[in-house]
Parts: sequence; C-alpha cells; structure tokens
Amino acid sequence: MILFEDVSKMYRGAPKPALNNVSVNVGAGEFVFLVGASGSGKSSFLRLILKEERPSAGEIHVLGQDLRRIPSRKVPLFRRSLGVVFQDFRLLPQKTVFDNVAYTLRVIGKSPGFIHEAVPDILQTVGLAQKAKNYPHELSGGEQQRVAIARAAVNKPAIMLADEPTGNLDPATSAGIMNVLSRINASGTTVIMATHDSGIVNQMQRRVIEIAGGRIVRDEHEGGYETSAIPLGELDTAPIPIITENVDEPTPLPVAKTSDPDDVASAFPWELRA
Ligand code: ADP
Ligand code: MG
Repeated sequence: MILFEDVSKMYRGAPKPALNNVSVNVGAGEFVFLVGASGSGKSSFLRLILKEERPSAGEIHVLGQDLRRIPSRKVPLFRRSLGVVFQDFRLLPQKTVFDNVAYTLRVIGKSPGFIHEAVPDILQTVGLAQKAKNYPHELSGGEQQRVAIARAAVNKPAIMLADEPTGNLDPATSAGIMNVLSRINASGTTVIMATHDSGIVNQMQRRVIEIAGGRIVRDEHEGGYETSAIPLGELDTAPIPIITENVDEPTPLPVAKTSDPDDVASAFPWELRA
C-alpha cells in the first residue's frame, strides 16, 4: 500500500539528508506509529507520501502507483485517497463544524444528498454529532482536532496521515484522539501517525517505526517507545545518497493568498497554511 525503496531526501542546502536510504512497506489496514526525535525525518516521510516533496533518490509507491509517474495535474486527484491531520488542526474559522467537514466534499463535487449523510455519520464517529452547528472557536482543542480528523476521514480515504496530532493536547484529550483514530483504522483506513508521545505509543501496542537521523533504526510490531537510536556520531559517517533525476517537479501544497478560504476553492482545506 505504501512502499519506500531506498528512499533518500536531501533538501537543497542542507548538510545532511533528512531521510537516508529508507526502505519500508506498510500494508493495507495497518496502524503505524512513526517515532523519533524532532528533526529525525518524520514529517519529511509523510510529505513524500503526499507527493508534497519528491525523493532525491529511491522509489515510492502509494496505492499501487509509482509517485514519479503521477503528473502534477493528477496530484489533487491522487490526494483524495489520503486524509491528512496536523498538530495545529487547520480548521476554517468562519465555517461551522458541519461546513468544515463538508467543505472538501463540496470541492470535489459530491452531491448534497451524499454530504447530508456522510457528514453526520463521521461526526457521530468522532463523537461530535451535537456540535455540528458550532464554530471552531467554540470548541476545545481536543474537539477541534476531532473535527479535523472527521474532515480527513469523511471521504473514507484509503490512508490517513497524522503528523503529531496530539502534540498540542493534554494526555486525557490525546487518549480521546487515539480512540477516534483507532475507530477510523478499524473501518479499514491505513493510519500512519508521527508522534513523540511515548505514553500513547506504549499504550497502543501497534507497529512502531523509529527514525533517527533520517534512518529507520527500528521497525517493530506491537511496539513501545523505548529508543534504540544509533548515536548521532555514527550516522554522520553514513554515505550521502546519490541524487537521481526525477520525471517531474514536486507539487507543493498551494498557499492561500487571501484570508477568504473560498478564494482557494480548488484547494483542500488542509492545504491552507495556518
Ligand atoms: P521531524 O518531523 O521528525 O521533526 P523533519 O522531517 O521535519 O523531521 O526534518 C528532518 C530534517 O530535515 C531536519 O534536519 C530538518 O531541519 C530538515 N528539513 C525539513 N524540511 C526542510 C526543508 N524544507 N528545507 C531544508 N531542510 C529541511
Ligand atoms: Mg515533524
């Protein structure tokens, strides 16, 4: 479902690769924690799956497609199979909970009939059926994140990527978020969650992929958070990957040019920069 083959990512001007020769395979229906210190390469890993960045070397296959072979104009369509959740929620402040969740569906042309079934359904799943008419500022942080998860999950994506979704939340609230992500996973969506919350990882006992200095240093089923990171000195001696040419340019996420979210109707809400 997600396959990395000898993937390296070298940002322009960076002294070291953000990801260094990463090979990994994530199967359909898995729940995977991506753990590692800040700067270890977790977000880069997720951005590569989204085709928000392209690898400097290696191959990435997502949902059976070689990402190099997806032309830029087809990237938005490709991303419809992916739900994304961020640490900072990125809700549209002028819209109700219902409209935040419905927004993406409207952008991609779903019928009002579909929307009026799917939105209450997913709000029920995340425990916010009673808050459909509220605005984001009327919700707690945990509730806002559950709206963001509902928005990411409403179109039943094959894959959900969550980048430190509990990073701004207290432990009790985080437990609620994990409960919701577990439910989404149980409904068939593959979930990859980047985190450095050891409490959550230990409690969930799911697959754990640990990155240190851009390399996978552990890949364990039903794992916990204990680190086995190689000392950084050893990593510094690792060979710099060979940079290969790619078929096309990466497709950066569009940035909203105005404060009116409707001006970027072709963008997904999670593509709006906070
Ligand atoms: P994490 O999410 O684990 O904190 P990142 O993937 O964000 O790690 O970063 C990995 C490394 O790549 C870090 O050294 C970071 O500074 C660097 N990096 C990330 N994004 C960029 C970028 N756009 N340009 C240059 N360097 C970057
Ligand atoms: Mg990160």
